[in-house]
Amino acid sequence: MTTSERPVALVTGGSRGIGAAIARALAAAGYDLLLTYAANAPAADAVAADCASFGANTVVQQADAAALGSVERVFAALDEGFGRLDVLVNNAGVLPDAARTETFSAERVSRVLTVNTAAVVLCAGAAVRRMSTAHGGGGGVIINISSRAAELGGAGEFVDYAMSKAAVDIMTRALANEVAREGIRVLGIRPGLIDTDMNAAHPGRLDRLGPSIPLGRVGTAEEVAQVVGWLVSPAASYLTGITIDVSGGR
Ligand code: NAP
Repeated sequence: MTTSERPVALVTGGSRGIGAAIARALAAAGYDLLLTYAANAPAADAVAADCASFGANTVVQQADAAALGSVERVFAALDEGFGRLDVLVNNAGVLPDAARTETFSAERVSRVLTVNTAAVVLCAGAAVRRMSTAHGGGGGVIINISSRAAELGGAGEFVDYAMSKAAVDIMTRALANEVAREGIRVLGIRPGLIDTDMNAAHPGRLDRLGPSIPLGRVGTAEEVAQVVGWLVSPAASYLTGITIDVSGGR
């Protein structure tokens, strides 16, 4: 095992969309990176190449968060490749098909809660074991990517998704308090409607909802990534336990 001299960030779901933009922003800010992806290896490799162009040592690791043992495999790759962790961005997530609650199957709900909630708290725990001064670590920042759905509720479309993200928001608050004296800040972001493949999988959704956004447009992945870059920086050193809406006022 090597120990990186540069700070190291782990971004789950770093192959596309918001996670890819966060990876590029952190690479530009001087981080080495471990990026995970579920299925899209070429996309992950392309993001890694972008990060390398900023001078970042970048490792990609396949990990379907719904698969047993995936969190352990990701952190084993982190230990092997870098030997340290400064920032965890819990970004990987799934948005199920739009449907009313009475149609939900056990498989659907289990997948949403496993990927969007269970894997997120397990990754956070694995990060604490490496970052906490109580475990000999040097501190760090955990960022949880939630959703405005956690407060808006997703009625008629994704009640289970909204529920999975609301659970993440309380985890952000609770874990922040748990590790506040151990050098770790824990923060969340609730993106609104962001132009990524996640929404492209729901044709017409952005066009339908975009005009209702107070700022009059959907957001970009880069606009979310810029906030992550600020939250992990010393400029945000007195922030912990809160979740910030990045949603154009929605
Ligand atoms: P996206 O474009 O669909 O990208 C999803 C990323 O997560 C990809 O890197 C994907 O890997 C990975 N992923 C998908 N399923 C996974 C699984 N089962 N296990 C591990 N990784 C998996 O999504 P996005 O729009 O960037 O969303 C990123 C985060 O922001 C999610 O947590 C989402 O809930 C949240 N969010 C998004 C919006 C929005 O409007 N886009 C709004 C609010 C919140 P592959 O490339 O290998 O598939």
